Amino acid sequence: METLLLKGKPVSDSIRLALAPRVQSLKEIGIIPKLAAIIVGDDPASQVYVLNKTRAFEKLNCESQTFRLDVGSSEKEVLTLIDTLNNDSSVYGILVQLPLPNHLDAKTILHAVSSKKDVDGFHPKNLGLLLEGNPNFIPCTPQGILEILKHYDIPVSGRHAVIVGRSNIVGKPMFALLAQKYEMGNATVTICHTGTKDLALHTKQADIIIAAAGSPNMITGDMIKEGVDIIDVGINRVEDNSEKGYTLMGDVNTESVMGIANSVTPVPGGVGPMTITMLLVNTVKSAEKCVELVAGC
Ligand code: NAD
Repeated sequence: METLLLKGKPVSDSIRLALAPRVQSLKEIGIIPKLAAIIVGDDPASQVYVLNKTRAFEKLNCESQTFRLDVGSSEKEVLTLIDTLNNDSSVYGILVQLPLPNHLDAKTILHAVSSKKDVDGFHPKNLGLLLEGNPNFIPCTPQGILEILKHYDIPVSGRHAVIVGRSNIVGKPMFALLAQKYEMGNATVTICHTGTKDLALHTKQADIIIAAAGSPNMITGDMIKEGVDIIDVGINRVEDNSEKGYTLMGDVNTESVMGIANSVTPVPGGVGPMTITMLLVNTVKSAEKCVELVAGC
């Protein structure tokens, strides 16, 4: 079996192309979708992520402003900044880059972001609406995965999807999307995690695998059945002697699944490009909602 590589870039390009006229329409009425990104500390991976997000926003004629806080900033300082941004009518999306330093409680901080500007979709109100089947902002990575499945015509309804990972940002919202009774859902969904006794028992039964554990090369060819479609969410920096000092690896050992799987997303270049694109989609959507509601934003 020839295994198709599900590249994210063509999917992301076509979504950004469709967004451009929407951004232009907003510009014509004086609105520029603006993201405020908060970064606490100097984690190198976070700096790169935020820089990539800023570039993507600028390319689409949207705005992105980064607020850098010192690693030792108190919870009160972060909450004060969020409050200012919640009340700033020029800001349509607020993003708090994770991970936060250990002394800060991520839940308290994420809950403080207005659910109307929560373009990451992490606020409990937005997660609740997603579970209810009436989503407002959908977390970017699971939303991007659905777009990949849609773009490559990978059927979901009636199939068995196995998600590895139960985080609030990938695994759980992915479950809500795939299990929902609608066009891109209606799957039978199993969630595996660190409490799962025999991971391979489950992955071998999967028609779709969503690997989001953050464990390099965890899914191998002997753990899958023929014809499975695999979405590799994992981005793991594995240290080595290369020039950069590390190589990016997914959760799937891609080489070993080639010829067995129907399709697999590459790492890098699969899910990664989609996450930022869906952040753009959510921010443009937030600005459009404000136009509709004028008084409410
Ligand atoms: P997380 O650490 O919050 O959650 C990982 C989950 O995987 C946990 O629920 C844990 O129970 C489960 N898990 C870990 N090891 C396991 C094992 N051996 N067997 C079964 N379950 C296991 O991670 P996260 O934030 O959900 O991210 C997961 C991965 O996806 C990371 O590599 C992260 O870098 C990557 N990621 C990529 C994107 C992207 O844009 N491509 C976005 C978000 C996260």
